[in-house]
Amino acid sequence: MHRIPNSNSTKGPADFFSGEVYFDVIAKGEEPSRLRVNTVRFAPCARTAWHTHACGQTLHVTDGIGLVQSRGGEVLVMRPGDTVYTPPDEWHWHGAAPDHFMTHLAMWEAPDPASGDAETTWGEHVTDAEYHYPEGQ
Ligand code: MN
Repeated sequence: MHRIPNSNSTKGPADFFSGEVYFDVIAKGEEPSRLRVNTVRFAPCARTAWHTHACGQTLHVTDGIGLVQSRGGEVLVMRPGDTVYTPPDEWHWHGAAPDHFMTHLAMWEAPDPASGDAETTWGEHVTDAEYHYPEGQ
């Protein structure tokens, strides 16, 4: 057993995120584990680009108000305590609401290295037309 040094907060790169996003690595499994856990903090309006995860992803909101959308689906509001699962290879984005910060845990697995698959596949940025706070949620 050993204590893992606290990671520094790393700014989410502009190729993959819009706005101010910082992540802290909480767990990066040592082989044979492929566990990945990050805390991700989004400023208001900040969000990921469209992307997929080879092994899917579970998000758990710990603070603020967030938004999440799968390709072709409606924008959903996420609040503290909410958990959202995205299946493997499903295109989606997640981020903060326009008027709130949002923090979530992001939990996923790296694919088997033998598969040659990328952990995360990144696409285009979420446009201002796509990004909106849904009515009635
Ligand atoms: Mn994701």
